[in-house]
Amino acid sequence: MSGIKLIDSYNRHLNYLRISITDRCNLNCCYCEPRKRIMKLSHNEILSYEEILRLVRIGISLGITKIRVTGGEPLVRKGIYEFLTCLRALKGLEDISLTTNAVLLEENLERLEKAGITRINISLDTLDRDKFKQITGHDSFERVWSAVLKAHARGFNPIKLNTVVLPGVNDDEMMDLAKLSFAYPFHIRFIEYMPIGTSTFIRRPQISAPDMIDRLKSLGRLIPVKNEIWDGPARRFKIEGAKGEIGLISAMSHHFCRQCNRLRLTAEGRLRTCLLSDRFEDLKGPLRSGCSDKQLADIIVNAILYKPFAHRLTTDSKARVHEQMSSIGG
Ligand code: SAM
Repeated sequence: MSGIKLIDSYNRHLNYLRISITDRCNLNCCYCEPRKRIMKLSHNEILSYEEILRLVRIGISLGITKIRVTGGEPLVRKGIYEFLTCLRALKGLEDISLTTNAVLLEENLERLEKAGITRINISLDTLDRDKFKQITGHDSFERVWSAVLKAHARGFNPIKLNTVVLPGVNDDEMMDLAKLSFAYPFHIRFIEYMPIGTSTFIRRPQISAPDMIDRLKSLGRLIPVKNEIWDGPARRFKIEGAKGEIGLISAMSHHFCRQCNRLRLTAEGRLRTCLLSDRFEDLKGPLRSGCSDKQLADIIVNAILYKPFAHRLTTDSKARVHEQMSSIGG
């Protein structure tokens, strides 16, 4: 398989795989979880860690060098720290990071460190306990905030805080969240809401990244920060005098499809070449029916030819992604 690389029809080099290891979550965020309860996947329906590791090894042989582990909530899946240790041991990966809601983080920081994971993204939509409960359905703000501070104290770096900006819910807190970058070296990332799944949050108009920038300017001069090799699509700024940074992720108002280098593996073994398209390639069936590594690699290489040039959610206002964000992984 050596020599074959993941280059799609638009000459984009795909080297970044985001893996959702579970569709289960210990929060119930209004913009993420489905309106009606849907059955969660059974243990047998999700890929085993061995299956995921095999696909990652094949991915590495095709040029994957960066992995993000996500969910659902990745820290709720049993065996995650052993899995992360195995992932870390694979040769060829240059960057492994984790996205978590941090509810279970504090008591597991040491295990994460031992597994070699120091780059974490923590979802934090508010600094207000009541609002946290309103958004997530759980009274866990204190736990999460304490985990953020402990992670910082232990030297986790960078710590990225992800905030989905929801009009009328938490947009009034953008300034307070951004001001955290004066006190801590955190990267506060404001994310445009994306219409994915059947979440209860469908309020419009949404707040676009340019609107967010206008608001943030009142905190001081926004100094653009050059993106590093492993940076995602965030437009990065430092507010003059701040230790940390702010970032804007504008999948809707100013999509970054042209630079997209991502593939996603869902918990049930679907390879998705675009977060905002419902098209996928099943890998679980072939994995479990005895396909060789070469055959699996061929399926992956073939799937990327269908990676769309750009998503259609901005040009078609009624369009929605049908699969839930909680199972795709963000
Ligand atoms: N449970 C983990 C967490 O909360 O970070 C990982 C999974 S979560 C699906 C990954 C990211 O997707 C979170 O930062 C979340 O805020 C974001 N997200 C979920 N639904 C979204 C939506 N409709 N639009 C934009 N971002 C969304």
